[in-house]
Amino acid sequence: MPMTGRFDDQAIHAILSEALLSGRLMAGAKLGEQRLAAVFGVTRERIRKVLLRLGHERLIETFPNRGAYVVNPSIEDAREIYEARRVVEGGIAWHVAERLSDEQQTVLRAHFTSERQAHQHRSRADSVRLSGEFHILLARMTKNEFVIRTMQELVARTSMLVAFFEDSNASECAVDEHEEILLALESRNPAAAAHAMMAHLALIETRLHPRAAPAGKADLLPALNAAIEAYEARAK
Ligand SMILES: [Zn+2]
Repeated sequence: MPMTGRFDDQAIHAILSEALLSGRLMAGAKLGEQRLAAVFGVTRERIRKVLLRLGHERLIETFPNRGAYVVNPSIEDAREIYEARRVVEGGIAWHVAERLSDEQQTVLRAHFTSERQAHQHRSRADSVRLSGEFHILLARMTKNEFVIRTMQELVARTSMLVAFFEDSNASECAVDEHEEILLALESRNPAAAAHAMMAHLALIETRLHPRAAPAGKADLLPALNAAIEAYEARAK
């Protein structure tokens, strides 16, 4: 039995995100509050709170009176989401390249450096999060609330698609593709930036392949335990 008080809400959220983004949970599997409460040694109320947050972040689906489930995206959902991203983000890249300040350039460079470090340390959850944030960061630089909100939803939906479809060794966003976008932005070339962004999103889409189900995937416990171990190793 895990010790009570071993995990705070932030830790439970980080561990569940890691397990979800690892793609080791079965699509459509139920995330039972009672079961998770036992795994983490906390109350069901605290699990419910974390599940609500994960639902808000689109990492899981929550239904009133039915509970929380691992998302179950189809390949058609994936195509539509990537098409939407090419439409929106081609425009974002163009817009940002036309107006990039020196300060924004420094922020983008710094972000890119952390992304490359996460990739080198093979931390999949960090890589997924940081590469998603690169796209959000560009959206924020438009300073348009509608664009930012649309992108937050699209990026969250993409993170879960990547977990289910992509083969586990490939990175969801190739670091050198982000660098190509960054270089075009730094040279203030709108057409090159839009082109690099759209090419990047098309390449991610071609890397999406439904995965073979790993052994024991139907059970939540192995994936959760692996995520708990990874979390505790990082916390040391
Ligand atoms: Zn990317």
